[in-house]
Amino acid sequence: KKITPKKTVYTIASDLTFAPFEYQNDKGEYVGIDVDLLKRIAELQGFELKFNFVGFASAVQAVESGQADAMIAGMTITDERKKSFDFSDSYFDSGIQLAVKKDNKKIKSYQDLQGKVVGAKVGTESADFLAAHEDEYGYKIKYYDAANDLYDSLRIGQIDAMMDDYPVIGYAIKNGQDLATPIKRETGGQYGFAVKKGQNAELVEMFNEGLKELRRTGEYDKIVGRYIAENN
Ligand code: GLN
Repeated sequence: KKITPKKTVYTIASDLTFAPFEYQNDKGEYVGIDVDLLKRIAELQGFELKFNFVGFASAVQAVESGQADAMIAGMTITDERKKSFDFSDSYFDSGIQLAVKKDNKKIKSYQDLQGKVVGAKVGTESADFLAAHEDEYGYKIKYYDAANDLYDSLRIGQIDAMMDDYPVIGYAIKNGQDLATPIKRETGGQYGFAVKKGQNAELVEMFNEGLKELRRTGEYDKIVGRYIAENN
């Protein structure tokens, strides 16, 4: 189905660093599952894109304030967010997980976080999960705007643990970061492309149509396979 775009160029906000969904390669170009998927969908559906990689919380704000038409940022579809966003069909199954330094043998359960400092990116599902369980487990939360600061803080021992989406932690481990994931994942998260509630409905429709097409032709699997090995 062909939908007619209403704008010449749609501005898309995204995260700064959220590999393998969006990150800069060696050449400084932004690549990743989100970037490649949306670019292909735009080609198939015949609309133009302008990406702004601003960070997760900033992307949320950009869409809410109308500075961006939509966001794609490994954003989990939640009931809370549905109050201010309209989401596309989900395009990726995810979830969150706790990570510690590889050589940390002391943290094996959430209970072991008593008196510890746990980091997360501001405005994310991980941050919400940590806030919801802060009293129960007795840790302190440290919030970060950017993923590199979060991961660096864990590496240099400023925080004891961190929480992030598990495909992102998995990708970091595969790429040589010394992390371990001692606690089972919190599953059930699904990523969606999002617009401000009630706005840019045709853009969501085009996304859904393009996504269906990419799934049908097998190109979806090819794009994901560029970044994530199948046996993961
Ligand atoms: N999936 C998580 C969320 O929606 C994290 C997204 C991100 O950090 N880019 O909150």
